Amino acid sequence: MPRRTKVDPNLSTRVLRVRLKDKHAAWLRESAFHVNQVFNYANELSYKVWQRERRFIGSDEIDRYTAGATREGLPLHSQTVQAVTQELVARRKQHRKVKLRWRVSNGPRRSLGWIPFKASAIRYRNGQVFFSGKPLSLWDSYGLADYELGTGNLSEDARGRWYLNVTIKVKKRPKPPTGLVGRSVGIDLGLKDFAATSDAEVFSLDKPYRKYEEALAVAQRAGKKERVRAIHSIIRNSRKDQLHKLSTAFVEEYDVIFIGNVNASALAKTRMAKSVLDAGWGMFRTMAQYKCDDAGVWFDEVDEAFSTQTCSCCKRRTGPKGLEGLGIREWACLECGAYHHRDINSSENILAAGRRRLAEGIPVLPAPCAATVG
Ligand SMILES: [Zn+2]
Repeated sequence: MPRRTKVDPNLSTRVLRVRLKDKHAAWLRESAFHVNQVFNYANELSYKVWQRERRFIGSDEIDRYTAGATREGLPLHSQTVQAVTQELVARRKQHRKVKLRWRVSNGPRRSLGWIPFKASAIRYRNGQVFFSGKPLSLWDSYGLADYELGTGNLSEDARGRWYLNVTIKVKKRPKPPTGLVGRSVGIDLGLKDFAATSDAEVFSLDKPYRKYEEALAVAQRAGKKERVRAIHSIIRNSRKDQLHKLSTAFVEEYDVIFIGNVNASALAKTRMAKSVLDAGWGMFRTMAQYKCDDAGVWFDEVDEAFSTQTCSCCKRRTGPKGLEGLGIREWACLECGAYHHRDINSSENILAAGRRRLAEGIPVLPAPCAATVG
């Protein structure tokens, strides 16, 4: 039977990631081992059925094969087993593969621990989550008590730390009336400075990667794997912490936020790759989005094609162009004479595009006409 889920149009889904306390690591790893067994069994079964019958076996059918396993002594809740087979089927479809990669439990190629669960298997009570009845302590940085917890997983990172990744529903805010009440801002995300706003402010972050680059190289040369992992983790956490602070500040200050849809994966292919990966634009946008949803702040991403080149005063494309123009920080418009800070000009264009989009109630994702692509 196909599953039917009713979608409430006023709710949107977010994933929260919360660190679990280390004392559970042994138990979690043990469970992850059994999850891998189930996953590999279902993977193999699914592949055999495909070879024999040229059809894809569904999770309900796989569950008929695994149904007895928990009674036979497999120390996993039957709901967890079902969550594993559902994930397998979903990933098989997503990657268009008849067989997925084996999950390895030991040795240097070990898969990082992963334990999926269904909404019905997770409960929050008195500062702990109960996973299939087992209490797990955590650092509750989000206030989980305020949310209804949905599906998700418990996952391990490269340092052996465990996290609860859980979906929650947050209320979407209805569209504000056109004309916009409240304070609105356009934000341009950049490489030189992290963000520039249409209120003529520029925000820069510490570049954690640059700061630890040398220590990292030393540890790598010495073959100290633990140390390398630790440094990577410090870098990630430092970046994340800064992004949290900045996104919170924006959400507290504004009622309407527009961010340019700068394409990190395209830029990552250029020689600026390191800075781009350091930048964390995607993470910042995700944070801003869910914090806006929570706080009732209007949030939208705006296509930022030409936002740098366009003069925010006269709207003509007189600004610096392409990757070569990246070094130009300030410029004067040849048409109207306005003098611009590159990124602030861009953020003003993003704000204008966002306002247009709201006013018209239609997406401003133009297919630029061939003649004007520069
Ligand atoms: Zn101009």
